[in-house]
Amino acid sequence: MSASTRIRAVKGMHDVLPQAMARWKRVEALFRDLAERHGYAEIRTPLVEPTSLFVRSIGESTDIVGKEMYSFVDKGEDSLTLRPEGTASAVRAYIEHEIHAQEAVTKWYYIGPMFRRERPARGRYRQFWQAGIECFGDPGPYSDAEAIALLVEVLRAIGLSELEVVVNSIGSRSSKERYRQALVEFLKPHKEALSLESQRRLETNPLRILDSKDPKDQAICKNAPAILDFLSEQDRAHFESLCELLARLGIESRVDPHLVRGLDYYSRTLFEVRGKGGELGAQNALAGGGRYDELVEALGGPPTPAIGFAMGIERILLACENTQEGPSLDVWVATPDPSLLPCVLELLTLLRRDGIRADADLRGTSLRSQLRRAQKKGVPFVLLLGPEEEAKSTFRLKDMEGHSEEEIPQSALFFELKRRLPKRSPSAL
Ligand code: AMP
Repeated sequence: MSASTRIRAVKGMHDVLPQAMARWKRVEALFRDLAERHGYAEIRTPLVEPTSLFVRSIGESTDIVGKEMYSFVDKGEDSLTLRPEGTASAVRAYIEHEIHAQEAVTKWYYIGPMFRRERPARGRYRQFWQAGIECFGDPGPYSDAEAIALLVEVLRAIGLSELEVVVNSIGSRSSKERYRQALVEFLKPHKEALSLESQRRLETNPLRILDSKDPKDQAICKNAPAILDFLSEQDRAHFESLCELLARLGIESRVDPHLVRGLDYYSRTLFEVRGKGGELGAQNALAGGGRYDELVEALGGPPTPAIGFAMGIERILLACENTQEGPSLDVWVATPDPSLLPCVLELLTLLRRDGIRADADLRGTSLRSQLRRAQKKGVPFVLLLGPEEEAKSTFRLKDMEGHSEEEIPQSALFFELKRRLPKRSPSAL
C-alpha cells in the first residue's frame, strides 16, 4: 500500500459524525429512560466472547454462526468472536456471576455495537447498534406482554407510530420437535422445487425455510402446517394469554404462524416489530425478540425461564427519517419593555432549572420581532411579561397553536405550564 492510499472504514461499518449524534442520543436516552422506568438495569459485557458461546447458544446451523461471525484466533490460541448479538453474552454473565442465587427475577438492558458479516444494504450493516433487554426468572406470560409493551412504548416515544407487531409461538422443546418433524414431512415431496438454500436447510434447520424470502419457497410454505396446531396445552394457554394481555394493553398485534426468526435458542413466544413508513425498504424489521426458556440451562446455569428483545438503532433512525422532530423549546419568554429583561433572565433561569426548555431574545428588540422568532422556532407557548402583568404579579400565557391567550398568576406558572406541556421523559429534558 503506498503512503498516499487512503484508508477507509471497513465495508459495512460506519462512522457516526457529530451532526448525527443528536438523533442517536435521543433514541438511546428514550430507550434508557423507559427501560429503567420498567425496572431494568444496564449491563455492559465485552465486545469479544469465546466463539463457543455463540455456537452453543445461537446454533451451528444458523446463518449467524454458519456464515456471519467475525471469529479469529488470538495470540493465546483461543478462538474468539466479535459478538453478533447481546443475549448470549447476557446469559453468560448471568451464569458466571451466579445472579440466580441473588434474586428471583433479573431485568437487564444493554446498548452497544454488534457484528455480523452480512451483505451490506440499506439498513443492513456489518457493525450495527442494538438496544435490548433481557428478563431472567419469570416464565410469563405477563412478562412477555410487558416486554412487548416496553418495546412498543419505546418506538412510539421515538416517534414511530406506523408499527406492525407480529407474534407467534413455537412452543417449548417437545412441541417444537413435533412440528419440525411434521414440517419436514410436508416439505420433503417439494424438495426439488425449493431454493438451494432451503434444500440445505431441510437437513439442518427446517424451521428457517418458513422465513425464506425466495418466492418459490414462500409459495410452497403457504400450505405448510401451522406451528400453532402443534403446541402443547400449556404452550397454547401461554400464547392465548399473551394475545389477550396485548389486546388489554391496547397493543394491536397480528399472529403469524410462519414467524420463526434466525436464532435457535427461542422457545414459545416470538415477536417482531416492523416499521411501515420511512426509508426502510426491505429491512423493515425494527426489533425482534422472544422467549428462551432453555438457554440458561443449556449454557450451564440452573433452569431459568427468560425473555428478551433487541432493536436496531440504525434501522430505527432510518424509519424516523421522515418523521417530524418536535419543537426543541417549550416556552419563549417575551417582553415589550426592555427594563424588564432582568426579570426575564431570572424567569428563564427558574424555568430551565425546573427542566423546562425555555429561551428568549435578550437583545431588547421589539415585541413583534420577539414573537416572530418564537413562531419561527415552533415554540408552543409564549410567556408575555409587560409592566401591567409585572404590577399584578401575573403572566400572559399565549398558546401559539391554539391561538389563545390567558392571564395566569405568577405563583401558578409552573403548575399551569406543566399541565399544558406534552409529557417528556426526564432524560429527554
Ligand atoms: P436479531 O438480533 O437478528 O433478532 O435482530 C434484532 C434487530 O437488530 C433487527 O430487527 C434489526 O433492527 C437489527 N439488526 C439485525 N441485524 C442487523 C444488521 N445487519 N444491520 C442493521 N441492523 C440489524
